[in-house]
Amino acid sequence: MIREPRFIIDSMLGTLARWLRILGYDTLYSRSYEDWTILKIAEEQDRIIITRDQGLHRRALNRGLKSILVEMDDMAERLAYIAYMTGIRLYVDFSKSRCPICNAELVKVPKERVKDKVPPRVYKLHEDFWICPRCGKVYWVGSHWRKIEEILAEARKIYERMKQRRRML
Ligand SMILES: [Zn+2]
Repeated sequence: MIREPRFIIDSMLGTLARWLRILGYDTLYSRSYEDWTILKIAEEQDRIIITRDQGLHRRALNRGLKSILVEMDDMAERLAYIAYMTGIRLYVDFSKSRCPICNAELVKVPKERVKDKVPPRVYKLHEDFWICPRCGKVYWVGSHWRKIEEILAEARKIYERMKQRRRML
């Protein structure tokens, strides 16, 4: 099996880090990362840098590191571009999802395990729950999920257009 890409994200792109974790990709992010930290970790751990900072992007490429410059603000466009550059999935495979807060791999748990950890209404309405072994946060496919699916559907469309454009060139 081809190893999945791993990422390190610059301090301006926190929301993107959460998306990549939900999609199942090992993604480091901290608001306190300085450029040199990002370069060092990317080099040591063979991670792809994702940044909005042209200076950091150039320095990464000069050092022979992999770096993706995202200049667009729209999340669907960003995800499509990253998929175009690295081949990441643009759908959620829950068996691979990571905690958006801390990047640990989520573990599916029997419903009874979360009875005291979620609101009663949520417990009644849902069957599938995941728990983060590191920070303890519990996840389920809640009402915000529709929005996530919409953005991913849009990202897949943009991705297809990018591929087509390349074929035409
Ligand atoms: Zn966590």
